[in-house]
Amino acid sequence: MPEMPAVIANTLMPWFAKPSQVSRVEALAPRLRRVRFEGESLRGVAYEPGHEVEFRVSPTAFRHYTPAMVDPGHGVMEVVFYLHGQGPGSEWASGLKPGDTADILGPGGRLSVDEEAAAHLFLGDETCLGLFQAMIRSLPSPLRMLGAIEVESGAEDWLTRVGVPLTAVPREPGKPRGEALRAWLSRNVLAGATCYLAGHAGSIVMLRQELLERHGFTKRALRSKAYWADGKRGL
Ligand SMILES: Cc1cc2nc3c(=O)[nH]c(=O)nc-3n(C[C@H](O)[C@H](O)[C@H](O)COP(=O)(O)OP(=O)(O)OC[C@H]3O[C@@H](n4cnc5c(N)ncnc54)[C@H](O)[C@@H]3O)c2cc1C
Repeated sequence: MPEMPAVIANTLMPWFAKPSQVSRVEALAPRLRRVRFEGESLRGVAYEPGHEVEFRVSPTAFRHYTPAMVDPGHGVMEVVFYLHGQGPGSEWASGLKPGDTADILGPGGRLSVDEEAAAHLFLGDETCLGLFQAMIRSLPSPLRMLGAIEVESGAEDWLTRVGVPLTAVPREPGKPRGEALRAWLSRNVLAGATCYLAGHAGSIVMLRQELLERHGFTKRALRSKAYWADGKRGL
C-alpha cells in the first residue's frame, strides 16, 4: 500500500504501527545513510534476516525498507537507506535526525536465507546493502559465499563503509542497469549455490534468465525480491 488517504492512515497507524525514535544517523556517504531506530514496541519483535518493514514517510505515503540489524532484546533496529533523491521515501530518509519519531509496520516477509544451501550467491544494487548484511551475518559459515552489488560510479567503497563483504561493481554510464552484475556473473559462478536476487526489478528479470539459461541454476535455487522498478512509485 504505497499511498493511502491521510485520514485513513491516521486511524490505522495507532492500531498497527510500532512507534519508534531515531537514536542515531550515520552519513556513510552523501547518498547513503544508516539509521538506528529504538522503541519499546520493537522489544521482543519476531524477526528473521530478509524480513522487510514499512515506514510512513509522509501523511499519505508508505515505503518498504529492510532492517540491516534487529536486536529484539534491546528494541533496536538499523536500516541502510540509499538516497536516490526522486521520491518521498528518499526525501524522508535524508531528513531523519536523532529524536525524530517513526512509525514502523512489520517486520515480516518471505525472503529468507536457505538453511540447506551448500553455498550462497548474492546479487543486488544499492538498496540491498542492509538486506545482504543481515543475511550474511546469519550464515553459519562465510566460507561458501560470494556476491556482487552494483553501485553508482564512484561508490565502490560503500560496501566497506556499511560492512558488507561482497564485491562492488560500478554501473557504467550509458550501460543498462544490471549489466555490470551480468558481466561479473560471467566470471564468478558458485556451483551448487542458492542465489539471492534483489533490488532493481528489470535487473532481476535479466539475471534470473542468465542464471537459468547460461549458468545451469534451477528455479528452486533462486530467491528474489524486486525492491523498485523504473518509473514506478513504491513497490
Ligand atoms: C521489500 C523492500 C525492501 C526494501 N529495502 C530497502 C532498503 O533497505 N534500503 C533502500 O534504500 N531501499 C529499499 N527498498 C527500495 C525502496 O523502497 C524504493 O527505492 C522506493 O521506491 C523508495 O521510495 P521513494 O518514495 O524514494 O521513491 P518512489 O516514489 O517509490 O519512486 C520515485 C521514482 O524513483 C525511482 N526509484 C526508486 N528507487 C530507486 C533507486 N533505488 N534508484 C533509482 N531510482 C529509484 C522510481 O522508479 C520512481 O521513478 C526496498 C523495497 C522493498 C519493496
